[in-house]
Amino acid sequence: VIILGIETSCDETSSSVLVDGAELRSNIISSQIEVHQKFGGVVPEVASRKHLENINSVIIESLEKAEVSLKDITAVAVTYGPGLVGALLVGVAAAKALSYALDIPLIGVNHLEGHISANFLAQPGLEFPLICLVVSGGHSDIVYLPNRGEYQLLGRTRDDAAGEAFDKVARAMGLGYPGGPLIDNLARQGNSQAVKFPRAFLEEGSLDFSFSGLKSAVLNYLNRSKMLNEEINRADLAASFQRAVVEVLVDKTISAARRTGVKTIITAGGVAANGELRNLLLEKAGEAGCKVFFPPLNLCTDNAAMIACAGYYKYLRGDFAPLSLNAIPGLTLGQDKY
Ligand code: ATP
Ligand code: MG
Ligand code: FE
Repeated sequence: VIILGIETSCDETSSSVLVDGAELRSNIISSQIEVHQKFGGVVPEVASRKHLENINSVIIESLEKAEVSLKDITAVAVTYGPGLVGALLVGVAAAKALSYALDIPLIGVNHLEGHISANFLAQPGLEFPLICLVVSGGHSDIVYLPNRGEYQLLGRTRDDAAGEAFDKVARAMGLGYPGGPLIDNLARQGNSQAVKFPRAFLEEGSLDFSFSGLKSAVLNYLNRSKMLNEEINRADLAASFQRAVVEVLVDKTISAARRTGVKTIITAGGVAANGELRNLLLEKAGEAGCKVFFPPLNLCTDNAAMIACAGYYKYLRGDFAPLSLNAIPGLTLGQDKY
């Protein structure tokens, strides 16, 4: 089974060829980071236009690199939500055209199911049930997966997503965009105990997150130092902020595993690339008697390989979308709407 995966939900135009769910033949990612950097974040209109310019050549490159031709493709899988509507539409239109012209099944993939599926690319043998911490630019969710393809949301952010908090703090520190990898790097030289920041655990037993208070605390810290003309140690600040985010993420993920009796934890989304998160989750999961898996670093942020992988399992279930498939910007996990 050869799946062509297509991803255009945000600012990466990506196409991938995946054989039998595990043999990754190609994963071409055309990032628009440079285009959006000068605005300090993704500009939706610009993103759609760039996707449109890039989509055909990215698909062709993914086929060439995989050494397959269009007639070899078994099915085409595409992200149809959540994401930016104009950006999503470019991928959806391309996938529908290929499905129609080649007379092959069209598979609509939820972008978050894609992020989660990055784990199965590296570890096809992972056994359910699983707990997944989904931490990306737009989401911070704790998800319980009783079986493949079934998702129960146990917790979510009430305000900013974890990645969004990294990006906003990095912007306030003048580090650039996207902020996650920059803070991750800077924090390596810092002391995470140097600045005391609040941890938002919310009500007793809640698996929800809140990062806006922490973000405000960092902004206040920056403003205060500026007003008092105090020199700040940027590495200490980055490390202390990062530690505050990571401690809450890890604590609640372990609680979710304990509460459900699940012994295997997986992670997904761009923030799953974070070094501090990886270290602390490994440590705490070990203490709790759980195993933990992380997707390879290059498959944490947006890519089409993860979409092809989610698409592969939907193909096996015969879960196909009609050619009327539309982009759904607010699509939620486990709520497919064709
Ligand atoms: P969503 O998947 O929710 O629609 P998205 O696609 O924009 O959002 P991803 O591509 O999964 O998000 O991840 C991008 C986010 O991950 C950005 O906020 C980025 O700062 C963050 N990120 C990437 N690498 C790291 C890292 N090493 N440490 C912390 N954050 C990181
Ligand atoms: Mg991106
Ligand atoms: Fe994403």
